[in-house]
Formats: sequence, structure tokens, C-alpha cells
Amino acid sequence: MPRNHHCPGCYQTMDRSRCELKDHVYRCQFHPNRYLKIGAECPTYKVERISKERAELKEEKEKEKENPKKEVKPKKEPERKYGKW
Ligand SMILES: [Zn+2]
Ligand SMILES: [Zn+2]
Repeated sequence: MPRNHHCPGCYQTMDRSRCELKDHVYRCQFHPNRYLKIGAECPTYKVERISKERAELKEEKEKEKENPKKEVKPKKEPERKYGKW
């Protein structure tokens, strides 16, 4: 981690109290010691979120494999062939 962290809002060495007050940065709701650019998503949280979403998606797909949705197709009456009987 760089010691002189630069503020993404004013591009100066970040002064936590000043930059936070001026809305240059916000505190990550999951990592209170981390400051993030306004509007940016915490990269750590983003990775967690994406992997969680993927896991959920995978789970859903696996459930579908176990219980495939049965397509209900209307039964067609076999067409009668005329002439050959
Ligand atoms: Zn700043
Ligand atoms: Zn975070």
C-alpha cells in the first residue's frame, strides 16, 4: 500500500477529514479504513459481490439440471393418413 495515498477527487495527498468533508471520497461501508472515490465501488467488495453472484447463478443452473423444467407441449393428434388403409 502506498503511504502517500492520493485523493481521487483533488489529486493531492489525501487528507482524510478534508477530502471526506468535501465529498472527494467516501468511506467504504464494508471497510471503514478504506476511502473510495465517490461513485466508485469498493474493488474488494466488487470481487466478493461478483463471485457471490456467480455462485448463485451456478447454484441455480445446477438446480435446473437436477429438476429440468418440463416443457409442456400440447399433444398433437396423429394425423390420419388417408388412402392407404
Ligand atoms: Zn481530495
Ligand atoms: Zn471495501
